[in-house]
Amino acid sequence: MRVLLAVIVYILVIFIRINIIKTPYIDENTKSLIFIFATLLIPTFIIRPIFNSNVKDLEPLNYKELEDTIKLPKGTTLYTKKSLFNNGIYVKGNLTKNSIVIDPVLIDKLKIEELRFLIYHELAHIKNNDITKNQFLFALSYGVTPIILILISRFIDFKTMSHLIAYIIISVVIYLIVILLYFLHKRKRELACDRYGSSYTSSEAGTHALIALQQLEILKDTKLVLFSDHPNLHKRIENLQNE
Ligand SMILES: [Zn+2]
Repeated sequence: MRVLLAVIVYILVIFIRINIIKTPYIDENTKSLIFIFATLLIPTFIIRPIFNSNVKDLEPLNYKELEDTIKLPKGTTLYTKKSLFNNGIYVKGNLTKNSIVIDPVLIDKLKIEELRFLIYHELAHIKNNDITKNQFLFALSYGVTPIILILISRFIDFKTMSHLIAYIIISVVIYLIVILLYFLHKRKRELACDRYGSSYTSSEAGTHALIALQQLEILKDTKLVLFSDHPNLHKRIENLQNE
């Protein structure tokens, strides 16, 4: 139902954008803004619910010893499935129903306390609605920022070419900063979720779990830390040790 509504709204947005539906009171820039924003949010309202409602290929965890020690919020279930993208453990779900999916490799290789840390890390994402919030921030930073910068430029009277070039350079810098802030926010959330995980286990369990993930090549450090949505391993371990 929600998906159908999203599809209808999106078709309306497209019709308004290409002027099949006449809206004389909305100017072209505003139409572009609405279009870009809707396009960026489609993954949240259409693709994610389709992907997320499918739990058929998931197997219940069946690890009583572990499950008995975890208090899951309402609507959250633990599953296991070999992951295609080697991402170890992840959440699929929407605002009310969530599944935490754990790769069997992790269940095999990690101690129970390390698994608990990873599960509580994901529970922190669920409690904070991080997936939805990140999708929204993604749309804002990538889609809305450039439109706002273009809108502002309409109110500036550029006297010379160099003024215009200066504005373009400043705009590019602002855009870059906004995107960097978006990634910074994501990395801060990861550190907060790590701390949440260790508060239910221990910083040692968290450290060992993260090191195990790196050994299994599920966590990979990147040189482009500023544009990464996860902090590098040493930063995450440091964060746990400083608890
Ligand atoms: Zn995370």
